[in-house]
Amino acid sequence: MIYVYWGGNMELDIGQVCREAGSVVCFDVSEQIPGFLFGTDNLSFKTPLHIQIKVQNSGKFLLVQGTIQTELVATCARCLEEFIYPLDLRYEDEWVARDLASEDQKETALLFDKDVIEIGDRILEQIVMALPMKFICSPECRGLCPYCGVNRNMAKCECQDKEPDPRFAALTAWRSEN
Ligand SMILES: [Zn+2]
Ligand SMILES: [Zn+2]
Repeated sequence: MIYVYWGGNMELDIGQVCREAGSVVCFDVSEQIPGFLFGTDNLSFKTPLHIQIKVQNSGKFLLVQGTIQTELVATCARCLEEFIYPLDLRYEDEWVARDLASEDQKETALLFDKDVIEIGDRILEQIVMALPMKFICSPECRGLCPYCGVNRNMAKCECQDKEPDPRFAALTAWRSEN
C-alpha cells in the first residue's frame, strides 16, 4: 500500500482514493533517514521520521494533511554541545491530477500523473522551513567562556580578570555573528 525509500523520496499510493470523490486513505510511516547539511550544520536524526498523513478526495483535488514528527541532533551555537531538537509539524497540501487541472492549477498546484504522489520533497521542505537560523540548546545556555573556552553551563572559571585567549575570543565572536 505504501512504499517508502529515502533519498528525499516518499511515494504515497493514491490509486484508489483518486478515483472516488469523498474517499479517504491514511498513511502512517516511520522511516529512519540519513542526516543532511543545513547551512554549516550537519543535522542527523535521533529518531525515525514519523509521518501520519490523511489523503481525502474533495472531488476537485486531493487534500493531503498530516503531521511530521522527529528528533534531530543539532549542535548548540553557543556552547557547541550536541542536543536533541524535537520537531512536531503540521502539514497540508493540495494535489491535482494533471489531466484534470485547470490552467491556473497547472501554474500553482502540485500535480500528479499516475497513481502516486511524491511527497518526500515537500516533507523535507516543511522540516527545513521549521528550523531556526541558529540552534541554541536552551534560552538559558551560557555558552563558552571567551577566555578559557570552558562550557559555562557545566563549570565555573576565574577568567574575568585575565586577557582573553584570542583563539576562543575569535570563536565566540564568529559564533555570535553566525
Ligand atoms: Zn548551549
Ligand atoms: Zn574561563
